[in-house]
Amino acid sequence: MPFVPQKEGEVTMYLCGPTVYNYAHIGNARPAVVFDLLARLLRRHYKLTFARNLTDVDDKINAAAMVTGKSIDEITARYIKAYNDDMGALGVQPPDVEPRATQHVPEMIAMIEALITRGHAYEAEGHVLFDVGSHAAYGALSKRDLREMIAGARVEVAPYKKAAHDFVLWKPSTPELPGWDSPWGRGRPGWHIECSAMAKKHLGVTIDIHAGGRDLIFPHHENELAQSCCAHDGAEFARYWLHNGFLSMDSEKMSKSLGNVLLVHDMLKTIPGEVIRLALLSAHYKQPLDWSDETIPSAKRMLDRLYGAVRGIEIGAAARAAAEPPAALLAALEDDLNSPQALKEFFALAKQLNKTTDEAEKQSLAAAMYASGELLGVMQSDAEEWFAGDVEGELSAVDIEELISLRNAARAARDFKAADKFRDQLSDAGIQIEDGADGTTWKRSG
Ligand code: AMP
Ligand code: ZN
Repeated sequence: MPFVPQKEGEVTMYLCGPTVYNYAHIGNARPAVVFDLLARLLRRHYKLTFARNLTDVDDKINAAAMVTGKSIDEITARYIKAYNDDMGALGVQPPDVEPRATQHVPEMIAMIEALITRGHAYEAEGHVLFDVGSHAAYGALSKRDLREMIAGARVEVAPYKKAAHDFVLWKPSTPELPGWDSPWGRGRPGWHIECSAMAKKHLGVTIDIHAGGRDLIFPHHENELAQSCCAHDGAEFARYWLHNGFLSMDSEKMSKSLGNVLLVHDMLKTIPGEVIRLALLSAHYKQPLDWSDETIPSAKRMLDRLYGAVRGIEIGAAARAAAEPPAALLAALEDDLNSPQALKEFFALAKQLNKTTDEAEKQSLAAAMYASGELLGVMQSDAEEWFAGDVEGELSAVDIEELISLRNAARAARDFKAADKFRDQLSDAGIQIEDGADGTTWKRSG
């Protein structure tokens, strides 16, 4: 399906951003990174307005404030900064607008009033609910049939709801909780109305692209769609919906109870941001991505190959600025953001560069490498600096992790000779490893 924006030469894109009550994990980083790549690509052809919101009013934030004894503002300010710092380290460029829910409450109230006036919402006991039955197209985005949903519903229905699937637009707040005055008393917005109101304010009634993780399709995006469409007399809400697949850890869901949640903030202590970014781009955004012990070492090796190809080749600033990524790489990205195919083209370019002996060709291929890196948001350091990180005689954390995973793989395959060889390599470099219930840990001795 070819992409045709609403207005020629211009694109609007909205991405559901984080709820700021803790650090982002590697799964949360996936939409930020893949849709940053899309934004970079769109900017080549269009005037893009990209909005990524911050959900800074939410029950999870209230709970975090309660547990830590910190104020809500302290919590949200801290995690907004951490999110932007961590995503920045992954090469995510700041969006054009980063609207905060708490700064758009009047717009949310206005939209809720429009829904009530049009018969799509009703007030009950200080709540305002969206009347799902009033919108025949409800369920179309997530391909759910409302009647089936009702038949299968086992949820306990709150007494103020007319129907089980009616969802909250506004709810009352107690004095300790954040709240705003409204025609329905002091209260706070539901999550879905936040995005509908912010998208309208910054991007208009109809947006070109609405993006987010696939877990958001239902109910979040279905509800955003219903609200916006009904508040705007049936006007189209989003022309294209893009959803990234989920990231799992060793084929398991990432969850606190399983203890397998990888925070970007922690990973960045030992892993360069562009290694993490490349790992996230190694799968097609729509597909699931299974993260394992091999993911980071393999992305590190990919960057070694890319930097290795351009190492020692001097190119003038003008030639570098004028260079373009190869047409095949662009074609891959322009085909539904096929980043694995784009990376293949990137390596093909590196291979070509490694082969050539012609000086002029070397220069132009290296310039094309940098241009490709710039578009993908990787390879932005100097090649010498990249390799300087690998201190002579000292193994980097990435190398250590790689050797450990090679050793563990050898052990799993009962190839103890190979496993011992990797362990010796580590101990020769002064690294002690220890096997425990949570896997293998390491420290530098002496
Ligand atoms: P949240 O802060 O939980 O609302 O999540 C922020 C974004 O991260 C949403 O777009 C989610 O869809 C996305 N997300 C959360 N977990 C994962 C995961 N394991 N893999 C991919 N995306 C995820
Ligand atoms: Zn949203």
